[in-house]
Amino acid sequence: MQEILDAIQSGASADDFANLAIPDSYRAVHVLKAEQDMWAGVPSKEKDPRTSLHVGEVPTPELAPDEVYLAVMASSINFNTVWSSIFEPVSTFGPMARLARESSWAARHDQPYQVVGSDASGVVLRVGSAVRNWKPGDRVTVHCNHVDDQDQSAHDDSMMATNQRIWGYETNFGGLADLAVVKANQLMPKPEHLTWEEAAVNALCNSTSYRMLVSRNGAQMKQGDVVLIWGATGGIGAYATQYVLNGGGIPVCVVSSADKAQILRKMGVEHVIDRAAADYHFFDENGVHDEGEWRRLGKDIRGLCGEDPDIVFEHPGRSTFGASMYVVKRGGTVVTCAATSGFMMEFDNRHFWMRLKRLVGSHFANYKEAWEANRLISKGMIHPVMSQVFPLEQTGEAAFQVHHNMHEGKIGVLALSPQEGLGVTNPELRAKLGDKLHAFRR
Ligand code: NAP
Repeated sequence: MQEILDAIQSGASADDFANLAIPDSYRAVHVLKAEQDMWAGVPSKEKDPRTSLHVGEVPTPELAPDEVYLAVMASSINFNTVWSSIFEPVSTFGPMARLARESSWAARHDQPYQVVGSDASGVVLRVGSAVRNWKPGDRVTVHCNHVDDQDQSAHDDSMMATNQRIWGYETNFGGLADLAVVKANQLMPKPEHLTWEEAAVNALCNSTSYRMLVSRNGAQMKQGDVVLIWGATGGIGAYATQYVLNGGGIPVCVVSSADKAQILRKMGVEHVIDRAAADYHFFDENGVHDEGEWRRLGKDIRGLCGEDPDIVFEHPGRSTFGASMYVVKRGGTVVTCAATSGFMMEFDNRHFWMRLKRLVGSHFANYKEAWEANRLISKGMIHPVMSQVFPLEQTGEAAFQVHHNMHEGKIGVLALSPQEGLGVTNPELRAKLGDKLHAFRR
């Protein structure tokens, strides 16, 4: 790996990269099939990623014709790595076994281990024989939409493909490693003004928020829309907040501390609700919904901006979903991509149908949406929301912090990159953007 790192740092040519030997094994963060039942009977919050995420050598798989080997400079923690590490809501070894039945190349994914991680920035080392638009030495970021694009179901919107999967979550050979195996159509140009770790934290969360709010497949936010954003300084919420500000909407941001509220105010957000201070109890002691508390939230939103939300950016799930469906405006849209606090959700359908509301399910982003979201990062119009950086060896601790909501924005992870701050090739744009690049930095 040292030879590969030297080539990257010395700006070697495409031929030099193509001549580098690919190692037989590489360092990777992985979970073990043999441990998938290790947490049986343990409450979710007590399942500890520091125990189940291992860092060690795994064999390098063969390269399929439509794939590249990527030297991973940096990656990031997504909530899906927490899900992988606690084997909830299901162990991902089942989906990988099903993937393995699709083709002889897909069979590689069914291993006794899974290399996790759904984000990466790095350098292309080798391209498969069918790869046309990328070459060794290219500096890239990776989005996690893993699709068989020969299947007709993928042709209109690749997220609608029956075989759509999230790379590094429902597939093997993910990004929390020194080397990754990536389909060529997951590659996007690395934003030149960003460091390796800043470039690695965006793709999954940024693209998800883009589809939910901006794309025709999501809530189709327009100028002046009031958007209620739960977890507005979390991974997806922090990008959602930027999209609302950029798109001329009015964000009403919910967070759980004064420090997080302060980050938002510095970003230019006027309306912030501290849910810890407000102390909402959307359920009573018997677990029954309390409509009075939904109404109190609605009143708080109206008190801030004078209106009900046109859109609710929903992902906490069970704990907030009933309230989200209640407070959204007549004719408004709740767009949801997750259910962190529980996926069996209830709402009062009377308010839903009588007020002609809409509910939109959303999941990651198609190729075009991921590319557009990356383009906005590259132009300096949307910014990374990285708060901390951990070395690969401490991925378990980083995932533990995300599991316990101890973080803000995104946590970057250094793989081959020996230190923070490397990889910038457009210092002029970086200087122009100044503090906007560091709004979340601790
Ligand atoms: P994150 O960084 O942990 O942020 C989530 C935020 O939600 C937290 O900052 C927290 O903010 C807030 N929150 C947590 N529990 C809450 C509750 N019970 N009530 C209200 N707010 C709560 O996670 P993320 O990366 O933003 O991801 C959020 C969810 O979306 C995860 O379940 C993830 O798996 C999912 N996701 C799905 C997709 C997809 O493609 N479908 C893509 C990305 C993420 P405060 O404590 O400050 O309020």
